[in-house]
Amino acid sequence: MNDLTLINAASVTLPGPFVGRHLIDGAWQTSAATFERRSPAHGTLVSTSAKGGAAETDAAIAAARRAFDTSGWAETSGKHRATLLLKVADLIDARREEIAVMEVLESGKPISQARAEIAGAADLWRYAASLARTMHGDSHNTLGPDMLGVVLRDPIGVVSVITPWNFPFLIVSQKLPFALAAGCTAVVKPSEMTPSTTVMLGEMLIEAGLPAGVVNIVLGFGDPVGARMSTHPDVDMVSFTGSTGVGKRIAAAAAGTLKKLSFELGGKNPQVIFADADLDAAADAITFGIYFNAGECCNSGSRIIVHEDVAQALTDKIVALSRRVSFGDPMHPDTQVGAIISPEHQAKIAGYVSDAKDGGATIALDGGALDLDGLPGQFYGPTVVTDVTPDMAIAQDEVFGPVLAVLRFRDFDEALALANGATYGLSAGVWSRDMHTCLQFARRVQAGTVWTNTWMDGFPEMPFGGVKQSGQGRELGRYGLEEFTELKTLTMKVTPGRDPWVRG
Ligand code: NAD
Repeated sequence: MNDLTLINAASVTLPGPFVGRHLIDGAWQTSAATFERRSPAHGTLVSTSAKGGAAETDAAIAAARRAFDTSGWAETSGKHRATLLLKVADLIDARREEIAVMEVLESGKPISQARAEIAGAADLWRYAASLARTMHGDSHNTLGPDMLGVVLRDPIGVVSVITPWNFPFLIVSQKLPFALAAGCTAVVKPSEMTPSTTVMLGEMLIEAGLPAGVVNIVLGFGDPVGARMSTHPDVDMVSFTGSTGVGKRIAAAAAGTLKKLSFELGGKNPQVIFADADLDAAADAITFGIYFNAGECCNSGSRIIVHEDVAQALTDKIVALSRRVSFGDPMHPDTQVGAIISPEHQAKIAGYVSDAKDGGATIALDGGALDLDGLPGQFYGPTVVTDVTPDMAIAQDEVFGPVLAVLRFRDFDEALALANGATYGLSAGVWSRDMHTCLQFARRVQAGTVWTNTWMDGFPEMPFGGVKQSGQGRELGRYGLEEFTELKTLTMKVTPGRDPWVRG
């Protein structure tokens, strides 16, 4: 008996299906074909979307190209762009509940979390507005009395924005306002699992007064829409968040036209817990880190590397806390963990757990597939796997579910080697009361983000991204804006005449 905290179907009225259309050159367009999304928790029809093909994608790219090259958008003042981004932020706030409910119904995440994410997204649009006004280049007046050098920071051009299903509105808001702040134009493709809140964003962009063609949205699948957005010669950059496998495919496809690539990919993020750590704080953060968004999170803290002296005590605390985390109907205000995105994904998660068991691991808490009253969708309970060895798939692969893998270490070097022994390098954590231990670990671990004595705090001001096969480039912070820019060097002779090169 697992004695878990489960929440059956809430008595709420769900909205009728949303109809999603493409936004191309300022106009809403349908396609002959459509695709549907059903709530992964409730099984009900949530949205019917236009299914884009090559024609719609090409039209959207052409509109973005025209808007960049001839509409004057790229030359507008930072003040103008900032004013527009601030209006979008206000509109997001005004429609927060509607967007949050759609995120719940398409992705399965809990409503309380969705509300916080939409509020966070509005904050990203506001932060990007501040960057629009402060973006600048550089000058060099040390090149001698005759010369002046100016480094211009220009928008890179047309950007393909391709997003995943796990944080649909938040991730598009980590990219699009920054691209717009820089003066770029864009074609956006949300995941086929979660298209509708990006369409809502398109409605808000129009309402805020964004000129036609500056942002275009094409709904549909990776093939052909995303693939075309990665190869088309009129696209200057691809900003992609998704799996490492698709990232590699995009990199190969984009090589033909040498586009700039910005990739936020997968992770198998380690947290190392030293023997002197605050085990209560660590256990709570680990529980949060593995179950947040049902573990369907690039930053999921799915790999715990704990000193052997405290391993049993820490595992006991995590298992006890796991039983208190509420799993169930994502529309219920008390739910902390909702549904799994699809039945296929649920089966994949279960496969990792049974493979680990077959390989000699111990299942300290076996949440497994959950049956909840009134909820025909798929749910996976909290699962803690111990006695994991580094060669097991559960220690190496991104399981993307509420499944924690626990490994043990004896000394600092072994902990570091285990932490770095993965192809990924997105984020890492260290728990110790000794700041020297934390700092040594932070300096030597291979990760784009390191948390010390905390987990998964994020701020618009702080850059985010991965090393190794977790990505390239950075989002957020001023670096997140600079990704969407290109430098132009302007070298000027500021005195008349010239020291002749031709003799005589
Ligand atoms: P995915 O790679 O399957 O799909 C992401 C997007 O790419 C979707 O819009 C999809 O339609 C599109 N796509 C698929 N094939 C394509 C192709 N050949 N060309 C162009 N586009 C294509 O990822 P997912 O399952 O939606 O999301 C989960 C993954 O995203 C996980 O690996 C997760 O770690 C990663 N992720 C990373 C971050 C980060 O910031 N590092 C954040 C969230 C999610």
